Amino acid sequence: MAKMSFRYGLSLFFMSVIPGAWRRTAAGAGLLAADGTVAPTIFAEMSAAAARTGAINLGQGFPDEDGPAEVLEAARSAIANGANQYPPGRGVPDLLEAISEHQRRFYGLDVDPGTEVIVTAGATEALTATLLALIDGPDDEVVVFEPYYDSYAAAVALAGARLRTVPLHAPGFQPDLDRLAATVTDRTRVILINDPHNPTGAVFERRVLEEVVRLAAQHDAVIVTDEVYEHLAFHGPHTPIATLPGAAERTLTISSAGKTFSTTGWKIGWVHGPAALITAVLTVKQYLTYVNGSPFQPAIAVGLRLDDAYFAVAAAALSRKHEILGEGLRSAGFTVHAPQGGYFTVADATALGGADAAAFCRSLPERAGVVAIPLTAFVSEAHRGEYRGLVRFAACKRVDVLEEAAARLASFAA
Ligand code: PMP
Ligand code: GLN
Repeated sequence: MAKMSFRYGLSLFFMSVIPGAWRRTAAGAGLLAADGTVAPTIFAEMSAAAARTGAINLGQGFPDEDGPAEVLEAARSAIANGANQYPPGRGVPDLLEAISEHQRRFYGLDVDPGTEVIVTAGATEALTATLLALIDGPDDEVVVFEPYYDSYAAAVALAGARLRTVPLHAPGFQPDLDRLAATVTDRTRVILINDPHNPTGAVFERRVLEEVVRLAAQHDAVIVTDEVYEHLAFHGPHTPIATLPGAAERTLTISSAGKTFSTTGWKIGWVHGPAALITAVLTVKQYLTYVNGSPFQPAIAVGLRLDDAYFAVAAAALSRKHEILGEGLRSAGFTVHAPQGGYFTVADATALGGADAAAFCRSLPERAGVVAIPLTAFVSEAHRGEYRGLVRFAACKRVDVLEEAAARLASFAA
């Protein structure tokens, strides 16, 4: 514990020494704290709070159980067999093949493993490299649905573009299509979507995906789609936007092995799309990390080739965990917005005195022994008021852990 706080303190120290260019872009994106430092991410802050207080961590989205034994064993044997040096820049050929096979098997998409896909250091690097590659200058705009995963605003700021947001509101968290159409203009370089969606748990209706494709074509924008929860959709198979008519030629599809195989720490992600766009992303990616995860890449190839039952069971098990979590939250007095996919359940804490969810979540570890994340952490400053009472809980935890968290919240509420 002492070691952890020391490291946490050190990282705060380094984060306070922010180089000028990043300080300007971060300030522009509202990422700076009041004292001019870049705060640690909300996930790091809340995981540190869990470590400090011993609270159950339903904040940061990472599973507390290992993924498939075959995949773990494949990594161990890759290390034993010497896969310990730099892999090729685009990724290990067997993994590139496996991604291509996976996209054909589940979605009927054709991906040339030689030219249309690269492996990245998680979806995070894929997103950042993609935005850095596509953004030309400060007049370029990136349209995202809000709330959005926190790295989006940071990556848009790093790329020097302007963020334009379209709100998602409860219930359902589907965007208003007129609002979407009014936000996408000829300045829009990228429409960035995330489906299934973190933090709201929304799966976008087909009419939303169709409108994104129509607007991207009308304004000659690139669609960037973050589908890291592709195998965790609870009501039917996931529809990649790249499968819609007219979409594939202007879409970069990003995913990650982290959620699908419970290997979030391995940071194996990928991006695929038209060869010219992939080449542009590769030119940036090679100077961000160059390569990563040599022994993990062949192990994820094993994972992607697991039989259909693995993927179906993983989705069903997580869906059941959401039900357990949702029942617990409801009986503690929260209003629950049941998710259609992904790791997270969003609940309204207003009835429990959580009208200011940020303050509520800051005190929850001490008061209830549970860590959760306020939705305002995923919202730009101007719009935080619209999401004030909402809290995000991670369901990707053992059933006994979810039950214990529910019991703690119930006795806190009582
Ligand atoms: N996108 C979304 C929507 C996420 O929730 C996450 C991580 N939880 C990421 C991207 C990052 O994925 P990775 O860990 O593979 O970088
Ligand atoms: N994606 C995870 C979440 O939303 C956290 C990943 C991270 O800490 N950057 O909780």
